[in-house]
Amino acid sequence: MADKILVTRSSMPDFDQYVNTIRPLWDSCWLTNSGKYHQEFEARLKSLCQVDNLCLTVNGHLALELVIEAMDFPKGSEVITTPFTFTSTTNAIVRNGLEPVFCDIKESDFTIDESKIEELITDKTVAILPVHVYGNPCNVETIEAIAVKHGLAVIYDAAHAFGEVYKGRGIAAYGDASIFSFHATKVFNSIEGGAVCADDPAICDKINVLKNFGLEGEDVIGECGTNGKMNEFCAAFGLCNLGELEANIARRKTVVELYHTLLRDVKEIRLNTYCKDLVPNYAYLPAILDSGKDRDDLYRFLKDNDIYARKYFYPLTCDALYLKEVKAYDVDVARDISDRVLTLPLYADMTQDQVKRVCECILKYFN
Ligand SMILES: *Cc1c(COP(=O)(O)O)cnc(C)c1O
Repeated sequence: MADKILVTRSSMPDFDQYVNTIRPLWDSCWLTNSGKYHQEFEARLKSLCQVDNLCLTVNGHLALELVIEAMDFPKGSEVITTPFTFTSTTNAIVRNGLEPVFCDIKESDFTIDESKIEELITDKTVAILPVHVYGNPCNVETIEAIAVKHGLAVIYDAAHAFGEVYKGRGIAAYGDASIFSFHATKVFNSIEGGAVCADDPAICDKINVLKNFGLEGEDVIGECGTNGKMNEFCAAFGLCNLGELEANIARRKTVVELYHTLLRDVKEIRLNTYCKDLVPNYAYLPAILDSGKDRDDLYRFLKDNDIYARKYFYPLTCDALYLKEVKAYDVDVARDISDRVLTLPLYADMTQDQVKRVCECILKYFN
């Protein structure tokens, strides 16, 4: 029996390079709390993302929770967001005492449907929180115009979009703030990790306080903060992996192109394609089955052949059990896509033979 093909596989830095990088930590014994690698990693990310203000966090979820907290919205305010995302996005809103208001998505690129945002705005709306889902950029211009017109903040969950350039600018240039995730399963990882990029330097200053228990200097407990700091081993891992980022994205591109070639005659599925103004990171390869095809059946067929695709994103986050009191929103497109999507295995060191095996299995299923 052939090996299992999993949906993803973490990118690892060179072992010797990592060991050499962490060795000095045995001399300094400085393991966390804004250490040398933390500072270096922040500086490198700032220049790579082409932003002025960036702060590291222990993971992407805390980045999102903390950037929302730093914006200090009144409790009970409404945030317009997408249900077609990882549950972290919605949890971060609710854990801040805010109410998610779910907006439908577009069939074409699965991002929030900007034409349906305005009808959801009430006098309690304070922010729009869209997701550059699968690395597909949202319609940032229209969202910006709506936000300006109604005086709303825009926070992008850019967890899928690290390393992307859209219309000549780093993806984090859009909105008031963006967050990235450097989780093991993402395009780029620091084992666990995350970052906030914000236009206003005061937001990053506040997050740096909040992520360190709310301490302001040695003698002042300013905020009721949490512990969201990245440690030196993760920062060092991230620094080493950063050197591989470009090559890894290039390898992912080759894998994605091979998928497109081998599956071009399968009329029953539509693979994600990128818009022309984007330098993509090839983070995910969602396949949308035609209406009437049974996604779960294909999922099981692949699994029986030791190929582990993912129903990513199913269920919708608006169907979380903890939201059962929240009113039902019209999210028909999101619901339909969520029932028909299967995200195919994709990682930087996926071999041509592995891609072929997945594609042959899909071809066999449809023939
Ligand atoms: C991964 C992910 C997160 C959370 O990031 P972690 O680093 O795992 O905490 C948030 N939003 C989206 C869309 C994600 O995919």
